[in-house]
Amino acid sequence: MKVEISEFVDVLLQYYPVNEEQLKSEDPLDLIVMRILEDQTNSQKFVKSAFENLRSQFKSWKEVLEAPDWKIAMAIKDVGYSNRKTRYIKEFLKFVAKHNWDLSWIKDLPIDEAVKIIQGIKGIPTVEARYILLFGFDMPVFPTDVHIKRVIRRIGILGNNATEEQISKYFESMQNIPYKRLYLALRTHANTICAARKPKCLMCPLAQYCHSVSPSVEYIQAKSL
Ligand code: SF4
Repeated sequence: MKVEISEFVDVLLQYYPVNEEQLKSEDPLDLIVMRILEDQTNSQKFVKSAFENLRSQFKSWKEVLEAPDWKIAMAIKDVGYSNRKTRYIKEFLKFVAKHNWDLSWIKDLPIDEAVKIIQGIKGIPTVEARYILLFGFDMPVFPTDVHIKRVIRRIGILGNNATEEQISKYFESMQNIPYKRLYLALRTHANTICAARKPKCLMCPLAQYCHSVSPSVEYIQAKSL
C-alpha cells in the first residue's frame, strides 16, 4: 500500500491537536542548558529544579560562566553527573560569550551547518540537534528520535532501514509541513498508541496506511468493505 503522505499528515494532525502553548518557541540558551541537564537523567522534576536553581542563584548566564565550578555543581547536583554537566554548561556558555551572547545567527545558516554546530555542543545527544533548531530557533527542520523512527519504519514510509537523518531530511524536503505540530503529534502517537511493545493497532488512526498493522485489524477492515 502506498502511503499518501499529505493525507497521513492530515490524519495525524487532526487526531492529535496541539495547543498554542506547546508551539511556543523557547529561548535557545535556556533550551540548550536544559537539554544538557536532561542527559542521562530520568526525572523531569530534578531537571526543572536544577534549572530553577541556576536561574535563581545566578543573575545571568554570564554570572554562571564566571562562577566557580563547585557552585554550579551544587546548584545542579540533583540531576546527577553534576561535575561533568557543569563542565559542559561552561563550555557552551564560553561559546555563546564568544558570539556576544547572541546565537540568532545560527538561524540563517544552511540546515546541515546549523545541525553540525548544535551537535558540536558537548552534552547534547546528536539526535537532539534538530529539536533545538526547531523549538529554539524556529528553523524549518524535522526532529527524528528513536520513537518517531519506530512509527515511520512501521508505517513503511521509507523502509525498515531508514535512519533518523534520512527521515528528517525526507520531511524537510516537503513544502508546507507544520514541523512542530507534526513532531508533537508523532511523539504522542509513539507514546500512546504505537508503543514499542504491543502497539494498539485496533484503535490506530493510521492503520489504513500502515505496513505493520496487526492482521486482526486488516481482517476487520476487509469485513467492513
Ligand atoms: S497500525 Fe499499529 S503498527 Fe501501524 S502505526 Fe498504528 S499502532 Fe503502529
